[in-house]
Amino acid sequence: MWYMTARIFVQRGTGPLSALLAVVAFVSLSAQTRITPDKNSYSVADDIKLGQEASAEAKMQLPMLNDTRTDDFVEDVGAQLAAAIPAELRHSGFRYTFDVVNQKDINAFALPGGPMFLNRGMLEAAKSEAEVAGVMAHEISHVALRHGTAQATKGQKFQIGAVAGQILGAIIGGAAGSVISQGSQFGLGAYFLKYGREYERQADLLGAQIMARAGYDPREMANMFKTIQAEGGSSGPEWLSSHPDPGNRYNSIVKEASMLRIEGNANTGQFQSVKARLGGMSPAYTAEQIAKGQARSGTSSTNSSRNTGGIERRSVTVEPPSSQFRTYSPASFLRVSVPANWRDLPSTDSQTYAPDSGYVETDGGQSAFTHGVQIGVAQGGSGNLQRDTDQLVQTFARSNPELASAGRARSETIGGRTGITTPLSNISDVTGEREYVSVSTTHLRDGSLLYIIGVAPQVEAGTYEQVFRKVRQSVRITD
Ligand SMILES: [Zn+2]
Repeated sequence: MWYMTARIFVQRGTGPLSALLAVVAFVSLSAQTRITPDKNSYSVADDIKLGQEASAEAKMQLPMLNDTRTDDFVEDVGAQLAAAIPAELRHSGFRYTFDVVNQKDINAFALPGGPMFLNRGMLEAAKSEAEVAGVMAHEISHVALRHGTAQATKGQKFQIGAVAGQILGAIIGGAAGSVISQGSQFGLGAYFLKYGREYERQADLLGAQIMARAGYDPREMANMFKTIQAEGGSSGPEWLSSHPDPGNRYNSIVKEASMLRIEGNANTGQFQSVKARLGGMSPAYTAEQIAKGQARSGTSSTNSSRNTGGIERRSVTVEPPSSQFRTYSPASFLRVSVPANWRDLPSTDSQTYAPDSGYVETDGGQSAFTHGVQIGVAQGGSGNLQRDTDQLVQTFARSNPELASAGRARSETIGGRTGITTPLSNISDVTGEREYVSVSTTHLRDGSLLYIIGVAPQVEAGTYEQVFRKVRQSVRITD
């Protein structure tokens, strides 16, 4: 079975540069710093869609704590903060949600449109509820100011569908730390999880304002950043590397705090009991365990069973590939022919062609198939085909942990262009059997990477590789 990670072919809802340049300014308390959102060529709906897709994948791939008491606590704190977002920065359809990841590293991240993930390690390191609220207010500010898409606006144009998987790639890559090195900040995910100094300054100041309005002391945010720094070690700097110090961070926040009036008292009184509860649980997973696929929601650290996405293992029998081929156009610039008895499997963000019974749709919208091909586009990075292909395979390996090399990559013409076909092997989560995977790539004109993946059980690899080759030879590109 092949878990799909990269996403393709979803056009953005609005025209590419229908720049939404409306600059919103707001002032709510007399002396506080005015924060003005940057220009953003994405729609609010784009933020929502991106965040929802990446959030669904994050929940599938990260070990969620799923502890009601802890979740209730962060939801209570988060709801008070979200209610304190200035009216000018509320966006229709944004939904602030809060989940705890059973991960040791001191980290948290928020996705466009509102989904926030807090590591258990962050809660355990915090000295008070207000320190937790400080990190959350900072993250909420990035979301409300739409920093992810604003940052992407400054960068290269991209297809919205290509991004969600990469956001996750960056999340997992970030989580993996040293395990997945260079390639981890693959592509555009970095836009959504790593901010520049100016956006950090904005999130600090708006975060302080939100805290005060919600009823928390904003100076606790400054204290939390000190706490994070002090924890140091291999786990401390993770949050700081994606939220770099804009300079004089502690003093700037304290100065802003001095201009703010704390409205009421938001303290839920749950922090100490939640902390004690977390302390009594078996240890949280490390980034390395997560990267190696050893950590999954609801499993203990000794249980290395993999996430099967709710699929029962079963044997799969499919009709042999027809010798007749049928031609499809999965994107305006692309034509491809596949065996006539394979179905064109509709999905919002990928194109898979597979025989009946060779395809499973799992909870959460992941697609998995035992026989067939999948075609997609991933952002290139270097312009070097081999390097970009290696990065792509690395991305796939994060959701297919048994993926391994199965021989030398060879050059092959794809759509009239220089291409590479890389043979790989994997263990199918559907059947538990070894499967053959071929990944063929070539560059599109904009530098992105067109890939064609073939998947078949190892015992049928010979037959299917002939079919995959025909499919690859049928590709026509007119970008
Ligand atoms: Zn930040």
